[in-house]
Amino acid sequence: MKTFATFEELGKAFGLAKRQRKQKPFLCKKCGGEMYHVPQTNIFLCENEKDGKVCGHRVFTARAF
Ligand SMILES: [Zn+2]
Repeated sequence: MKTFATFEELGKAFGLAKRQRKQKPFLCKKCGGEMYHVPQTNIFLCENEKDGKVCGHRVFTARAF
């Protein structure tokens, strides 16, 4: 049995070091679809189609990701 001195070591051993934090999908308040995050910004766009039209709803979050 291997013992670990740090959690970092433990993470590496289990291949978790590169695991990304899973973000909750940002859902559109208008159509309920999953919104698209514009990289390096605090903007989410809704590109889901509803009734043959693109929803186009936009949300500004409190912080950039
Ligand atoms: Zn929408």
